[in-house]
Amino acid sequence: MKTTDTNALTREMATQTVRDDVVLNAAYIDGAWVTIEASDTDFDSEHALYDPNSGEVIATTRLCSEEHVESAANAAATAYASWSQTSVSERAHYLKAIADTMTEQFDTLVGLSVLNNGKPIEEAKIDVSDAIACYRYYAQLIIKQETWAEVETNETGIRLLKTYAPVGVCALIVPWNFPMVTTAWKLAPALAAGCTLVLKPSEVTLLPELMLGNILSAINLPKGVVNILPGAAAVGAGMTSHPMIDKVSFTGSNAVGEKVMSQAAKGIKDISLELGGKSAIIVCADADIEYACDLIISGIFTNAGQICSATSRLLVHQDIADALFKTLKIKTEALSIGDGFDTDTQMGPLVSEQQLNQVKRYFDIAMTENLECLTGGKVLARAGYFVTPTIYHNVPVTSQLWTEEIFGPVLVSKTFTEDLDAIHLANDSKFALAATIVSADETAALKMALQIQAGHIWINEQQIVLPQAGWGGFKQSGIGRELGNDGLSAYQKSKHVLLTH
Ligand code: NAD
Repeated sequence: MKTTDTNALTREMATQTVRDDVVLNAAYIDGAWVTIEASDTDFDSEHALYDPNSGEVIATTRLCSEEHVESAANAAATAYASWSQTSVSERAHYLKAIADTMTEQFDTLVGLSVLNNGKPIEEAKIDVSDAIACYRYYAQLIIKQETWAEVETNETGIRLLKTYAPVGVCALIVPWNFPMVTTAWKLAPALAAGCTLVLKPSEVTLLPELMLGNILSAINLPKGVVNILPGAAAVGAGMTSHPMIDKVSFTGSNAVGEKVMSQAAKGIKDISLELGGKSAIIVCADADIEYACDLIISGIFTNAGQICSATSRLLVHQDIADALFKTLKIKTEALSIGDGFDTDTQMGPLVSEQQLNQVKRYFDIAMTENLECLTGGKVLARAGYFVTPTIYHNVPVTSQLWTEEIFGPVLVSKTFTEDLDAIHLANDSKFALAATIVSADETAALKMALQIQAGHIWINEQQIVLPQAGWGGFKQSGIGRELGNDGLSAYQKSKHVLLTH
């Protein structure tokens, strides 16, 4: 499927792509699609993929078995011998080729993402563009890395040289909220570094992710370098504990992250974890109210709040609180909720029935706790997985809604009188992924940024993540960084060579 105008993308066109182009009931292993037979499915049986807009099944597919994990790990280990020795220009060539092919298939990928994930078309376009930018970025970055870097010492008669080697065969596991993007954040630096890998996309959003196999095949990536296993928890567990895997990179929930960490302990694997968040947005007394409300709304209602870095805790200076909450309520209630394929839609459905039930559970807790609901708090009475954009005010810090990651369009808020109190409240969380500060005083905002515990802070902006910026949190938001130079380092180990001269 190819259109010249993504505004003309429809559900029918995306559904046709599923029939024509997406390879179902198969895993991409050793450079080819391998059929998953019904008798293979010892881990999971027939698996349905849903359209979150209607709750209807788009397609069914079979998920991998233990044997597929075994073959994929073997293929990646075999390919490692030659791929790890390729030149940086060769690896950059393949990364650029992935980016170019994704660009050619832009509309197709956007359509599949809207269909399978439910996100509004404009958001899906940003996702695919971000994924492409990530492959291009690592193609450029790896070219610049010197094979040998001279390390300064105080010694005479000796030289100390530093080089980087790939960390080995990697298991990459990603969630469903940004299909193709979280994959790119891992796959691009891993390939750039010279690693080979087994990738497990989320079983919820396989449609856009499986297209990667077609793309790798089209660019003739050497076989075994990337292997893609459609699977659920059991496949992930098989990968993370597999003896041929040297490194595990996982993005997902804290509950699964803890399991992954213990699974990866077997054989002392290198590990990176990108986990949950409960990020704060602080609106200072001097902030422009209209603009602050736009940032608050995009920080929590983009992707229906299913963003690890969603700014889901709002802290507003008391002096502007009345005016701000009045404007925020009006703007929130004016949001257009609906089908991602409708270009007027500003917020789509949640991704799945499971996610809908999770958000509904927090609505019920809010009722039990008698929380002050400024707007929303309801499941929409229609087909699909829709809830209203929701704001609770004056939420106690002891409430589960204040402390837990809801992963839906639910904002909890409070007021403050002193900036230090806002910083204290922002930092009072087991998570520490991101934060936003809205202020007319850049110097004061930068001072606050130094005191806030978070890996990425926006000042008068929201949710823009550049490939050059390292991404990751403190505390229980994870271990390590993706993107930027740090993201490449996650797939390399330094080696030092000392020689006399
Ligand atoms: P999840 O933890 O349920 O699943 C993530 C992935 O892990 C899926 O592919 C799943 O199949 C797999 N998995 C499940 N059990 C496993 C096991 N035992 N071993 C190995 N793999 C296993 O998360 P989700 O619901 O898909 O995604 C939402 C979560 O992801 C949220 O908590 C969100 O904050 C987090 N997230 C974090 C970032 C970040 O950059 N920090 C980015 C996106 C999402």
